[in-house]
Amino acid sequence: MKGKRIFNSASVPSEKCIFCRIVRGELPSNRVYEDEDYIAFLDINPYSKGHTLVCPKRHGETLWDMGEDEIGGLFAAASKVSRAIVEATGSDGFRILQNNGEAANQVVGHVHVHVIPVTMENKSRFMSRMSVSASEMTALAKSIWESVG
Ligand code: AMP
Ligand code: ZN
Repeated sequence: MKGKRIFNSASVPSEKCIFCRIVRGELPSNRVYEDEDYIAFLDINPYSKGHTLVCPKRHGETLWDMGEDEIGGLFAAASKVSRAIVEATGSDGFRILQNNGEAANQVVGHVHVHVIPVTMENKSRFMSRMSVSASEMTALAKSIWESVG
C-alpha cells in the first residue's frame, strides 16, 4: 500500500539499530523466546516485572513496513510469550502495547510489541517504569524461557 510515511526521529538503518544488534548478538539482552523469525527479551526499563518486547528479526520500523503474514506471526509470538510471562510472574493478565511513530512515543525504530504483565493488586495503578536488579532480570528471563516450552 502506498501513501503517508509515519514520522520517526528514531529511524536508523539496521547496522545501527539496537534491536538488530541484539538479534545479531552484538548487544546483550535477557532473552525469553526465540524462533527463526522472532525474538523476545525483557525491557530494560520495565513497567512491571516480566515486561517483554517481542520483535521480528527482520528490520522494519513500524507495522506498515511488515507483510500481513509477518504481522500475524509477530502477534502470535507475543500471545505465546504472554502465557509464559503470566505463568512465570504469577500475574493475572497482561497488556499489549505497540507504538508506531514519534507521536506515539516510539523510541526504538524497530517494530516491537510490548507484553506487560499486570496483577489484580495493581489494577488501578497508573503505569510507571520501575527498576529491577540485574540478577532478578536474569532469573525472570530464565523462568519465562523455561515456561514458553
Ligand atoms: P517504544 O517506546 O515502544 O519504542 O519502546 C521501546 C522500549 O525499548 C522502551 O520501553 C525501552 O525501555 C526499551 N529498550 C531500549 N533499549 C533496550 C535494550 N537495549 N534492551 C531492552 N529494552 C530496551
Ligand atoms: Zn532493527
